[in-house]
Amino acid sequence: MAHIIDGKIISASARASIAERTAAFEAKTGVKPGLAVVIVGSDPASQVYVRNKKKGCEEVGFYSEVHEMPEETTMDELLAKIENLKNNPAIHGILVQLPLPKHLDEKAVIDAIPPEKDVDAFHPVNTGKIMIGDYSFLPCTPAGVMKMLEYEQISVEGKECVVVGRSNIVGKPMAMLLLHANGTITVCHSRTKNLAEVTRRADILVVAIGKANFVTADMVKEGAVVIDVGMNRNAEGKLCGDVDFANVKEKASAITPVPGGVGVMTITMLLENTLTAAELAVAGK
Ligand code: NAP
Repeated sequence: MAHIIDGKIISASARASIAERTAAFEAKTGVKPGLAVVIVGSDPASQVYVRNKKKGCEEVGFYSEVHEMPEETTMDELLAKIENLKNNPAIHGILVQLPLPKHLDEKAVIDAIPPEKDVDAFHPVNTGKIMIGDYSFLPCTPAGVMKMLEYEQISVEGKECVVVGRSNIVGKPMAMLLLHANGTITVCHSRTKNLAEVTRRADILVVAIGKANFVTADMVKEGAVVIDVGMNRNAEGKLCGDVDFANVKEKASAITPVPGGVGVMTITMLLENTLTAAELAVAGK
């Protein structure tokens, strides 16, 4: 049976070192890292994420602000809010909680966040920097996966890595980070032919498609490391991943559960990005 990669343990260890680095930074510079989270509308899942981000900030000793804006907020109002936070020296990281209500232009919002305060690392400048391997921030979810592999001492070098899903926030940057770590990468998506044949080649399989229990044991090689990024609700309304955990764990050498896996790491990596943003701001970079 597979070793269960425990996101809670890895996250706690990462947060402890962020808290230590924050205390040392504040003692030296008198500056507290500051994160502003903007949420538009009242999507219940987004509200939970925002609450957890605020709690995470408190845990590691950051200053944080939550800006709740009504569903009917206009583009001009949202851009004015971002402009205001952009000019606030107490704020080192700005995060606009996605998805936004349909009438708002997500791309324009991402573009409006200055790259040096873009702690989600979604801005095209940060995306481009990731491509060339010269980055300050990494998108939180793929960065969390890399942190988990590192903690578990799972080497990527020379391994067959298959990423299922090619979104801008997970699949594509995930593939790039595995490539930087010297893996041999295949990216699959909804038009991939013979998906199971490709996934069965993987020494490291990362799945981020948003379909409950989609990856079954017959799609996984014996002894593979399986990372499940998916966050779905099953027919009973319970949180579950993209991987059929119960059966795949019998075949994999290591696997992340849902909940308690990658999801826990995402906010931790946001905290790490915010601290980095504060350090760079103080250093004038
Ligand atoms: P997304 O933007 O909807 O992208 C889904 C990707 O999966 C697309 O590239 C799509 O291919 C591919 N796909 C869909 N059905 C497929 C199939 N049958 N076979 C192969 N590929 C298929 O999703 P996302 O934002 O990347 O999120 C993916 C999952 O991760 C969701 O469950 C989401 O909730 C979760 N998530 C978790 C965290 C976390 O913190 N743990 C963070 C972000 C997302 P095409 O490009 O061809 O359409």
